[in-house]
Parts: sequence; structure tokens; C-alpha cells
Amino acid sequence: MAYAYDDQNIFAKILRGEIPNKTVTETEHTLAFEDIRPQAPVHVLVIPKGPYVTYDHFASEASDAEIVDFNRVVARICQDLGVTADAGQGCRFISNAGEHGVQEVPHYHLHILGGRRMGRMVQ
Ligand code: C5P
Repeated sequence: MAYAYDDQNIFAKILRGEIPNKTVTETEHTLAFEDIRPQAPVHVLVIPKGPYVTYDHFASEASDAEIVDFNRVVARICQDLGVTADAGQGCRFISNAGEHGVQEVPHYHLHILGGRRMGRMVQ
């Protein structure tokens, strides 16, 4: 089944510059910004600029360049913010997908959460 992308979702509006965001970093294919309702001292959202709804949508249909760029951005943010598990105290990556994943915004995004010890997964 093909995903239908809603270009009125809030992250699409952020990408078009219609809604402000606190940008952490931006590349040709990827944008990272601070979550508006942070759940940890570090709470960054990383999104591809392309119209992908979920992780599996992105990973199956994005180009290699988009996927590599996205992952390099995630790694660089973790290093820059000191939340890697080798040099820092680690972090948690979350990507909610669809109804059972309780995804609020239907544009693929990866949460990077760090700066405190997380609770055990998952409710
Ligand atoms: O549940 P989901 O993974 O879709 O979470 C969406 C996230 O987007 C929430 O953590 C929410 O705080 C964040 N958000 C944001 N800026 C907005 C709207 C939502 O950072 N303008």
C-alpha cells in the first residue's frame, strides 16, 4: 500500500518556512530542530526534507543520498551535543509510526533524547 503524504502537516509547513523553528542544523536533504515540547534536556527532531510519512516509507523510497545524509546528520548532532554512548552518557532514538506508534505529525522524524537517564521502554 502506498503512503499518502499530507503536505499540510506541521513539519511540511516548517520546511516551507511557514512556521518558525529552532534549527539545530540543516543540509541539502535534512533539517534538525529543537522539539517545541522537550521531554529531556536534549530533544532534537531530525526530519528528511522529502515527503516521507514514516521510517519504513523513508527507508524504502528515499534515495541513497537522502538516507546517508540523514544518518550523518543524526550522528553529527549526537557528537556535537555530547550524547554519544562512547564519549557521553548516551541517548535514546525514537520514531513513532502510525496509529499504534501514536505518531502525531505524519512526516517522518527521529527524536534524539538525551541529557538524562530515560525510563525503561515502553508503555
Ligand atoms: O508523536 P510524534 O513522534 O509525531 O511527535 C511529534 C513531535 O513534534 C512532538 O514531540 C511535538 O512536541 C513536536 N512538535 C514540534 N513543533 C511543532 C509541533 C510538534 O516540535 N510545531
